[in-house]
Amino acid sequence: MTKNLSKRQVQQTKSNAPDVIVIGGGVVGVCTAYYMNKAGINVTLLEQNRICSGSSWGNAGWLVPSHSVPLARPGSVTQGLKWMLNPESPFYIKPRPSLDLINWLLRFRRAANLSSLRKVLGPLVELGEVSLQLYAELEKEETSLNSYYAQKGLIALYATTDWLKEGIEEAHLLSEFSVHSQTLDTEQVLDMEPAVKPTIAGGVYYPNEAHVKPDDLVKGLASIIDERGAKIHENTAVTGFSTSGGKIKSVLTTNGIFTADEVVLATGAWSPRVAQELKLDLPIQPAKGYSISFEEITNPPLFPLMLAESKVGVTPMGPVLRFAGTLELSGLNTDINNRRLGAIRRAGDKFITTDITNATEVVWCGMRPLTPDSVPIIGRTSQLDNLILATGHSMTGVTLGAVTGKLVTEIVSGQHTTVDINPFSPMRF
Ligand SMILES: Cc1cc2nc3c(=O)[nH]c(=O)nc-3n(C[C@H](O)[C@H](O)[C@H](O)COP(=O)(O)OP(=O)(O)OC[C@H]3O[C@@H](n4cnc5c(N)ncnc54)[C@H](O)[C@@H]3O)c2cc1C
Repeated sequence: MTKNLSKRQVQQTKSNAPDVIVIGGGVVGVCTAYYMNKAGINVTLLEQNRICSGSSWGNAGWLVPSHSVPLARPGSVTQGLKWMLNPESPFYIKPRPSLDLINWLLRFRRAANLSSLRKVLGPLVELGEVSLQLYAELEKEETSLNSYYAQKGLIALYATTDWLKEGIEEAHLLSEFSVHSQTLDTEQVLDMEPAVKPTIAGGVYYPNEAHVKPDDLVKGLASIIDERGAKIHENTAVTGFSTSGGKIKSVLTTNGIFTADEVVLATGAWSPRVAQELKLDLPIQPAKGYSISFEEITNPPLFPLMLAESKVGVTPMGPVLRFAGTLELSGLNTDINNRRLGAIRRAGDKFITTDITNATEVVWCGMRPLTPDSVPIIGRTSQLDNLILATGHSMTGVTLGAVTGKLVTEIVSGQHTTVDINPFSPMRF
C-alpha cells in the first residue's frame, strides 16, 4: 500500500507505471482511480459534472452478490409485457423509433433462457463476492471513510405465497453458486425485523450482504485519493478523442486536452455516447430508476429490505431511509414520472410500519448502464490498444465498483487478474 512505502519508493513506482486517464466519476470510475492511486499509478479522473452525480448517487446502496441473477431470465419477456400495461408497474419501455433499442431488446430476448442465465451466474456471483470482500477491507483500511457501511444481510419480503415460492426458487438457484440464504415464515420475519407489517407471507434472508450510503462512499473515496495525489477534474466533459496507430493519443474535453498512456472509459449510461466518438458500438441502454430519501426518521427498519413484488428496495443508511426502484427504458434523460414515484412510496408504506408522513424528502432519478445480459463490460477492446472499458454494470454497479477498480488496475499493470475477466469481455457482443 502506498502509505507503507518511503517517499523515494513511491516516486520510483510512479515513474515506472503508466499514466492513466479515467473518464467518469461514478462508483466505477472513482473505485478504479482509488485502486490505481493505491498501486502507485499516476491517475487523472475526468468528470463532466460533479463527482457522483450520475447513477451512483441515490441508488439503494446494496452490496449484493445475491442480486446476480440477470434481468434476462425465463419468463422475463412475458412478465415485462404484462408490466408495460400498468403505468405504476416497476418496468416500462417508452416506445420510440430507435435501432439501438430494438437491437438491445433482441439481444435481451436471446439471453432470456436458463442456459444463458446459468452461464453468467457463476462469474457474476464470484465478481460480487470478491467485491464484497474488497469493501470489507476498504472499510477497515480507510478509517476516514464514512460510508455508513454495514454488513448485516438483507431480507427479501413477499406479500403472497406465490411470490414467496418464486423467491425460494431463486434462493435455491443461487445456493448452487454458494450464495447462502434462509427462508423465513411471517413470524420469523417479524422477530428479526419489527418494522415489517404482519400482512407479508414470508421472506428470504441473505445473511452475507452489506450496504452503504453510496454518495458518501464515492465522494469519500474521491477525497481520499485527491489528498494522495490523484488529479480530479470536475466539470470536465470529454467531447472527443484523437487517435492514431490503433491508440488514443489524446482526450479532448471542455477543459482542455489531456494525454496519458492508457484510457479507462467508466461513463455509465453515457458510455455509448462517449464510445461513439471512438467508433465503438456499446449495447447499453440507460435504465432509469427513482428513489425517495426520507430524513429525520424515528423508527427505521434494522435491515435493508427488498419488497419483491414491487421491486422496491428499502435501505436504512445512516441519517436517511431510502426507497428505490423502477426500471424505465426511456432514453438518456432525467425526467421524473410522478406516477411511478408514487408507486414506490406506496410499496414501502404497504410493507413497513415506519412513519414517513412528516419526513423531509429528497427525490432522485438515475440511469443504470444496462447491458442486455446484465453482465458488465470490463476489459480491453480489439480496436484500440490503450482503451479499457469499465461500464455496463446494470443493476449492481455499486456492488461491483470495488472489484472492477481492482481488475482494471491489474489489467493496466499487466498483472494476472484476481478474477477471470473473459466472461466480461467487450468482445462478447
Ligand atoms: C434506483 C436505483 C437503485 C439501484 N440500486 C443499486 C444497489 O442497491 N446496488 C447496486 O450495486 N447497484 C444499484 N443500482 C445500480 C447502480 O446505481 C449503477 O450500476 C452504478 O451507479 C453505475 O455506476 P457507474 O460509475 O458506471 O455510472 P455513474 O454513477 O452514472 O457514473 C458515470 C459518470 O460518468 C460521467 N460522464 C458521462 N459522460 C461523461 C463525459 N463525456 N465526460 C466526463 N464524464 C462523463 C457522468 O457524469 C457520471 O458521473 C441502482 C440504480 C438505480 C437507478
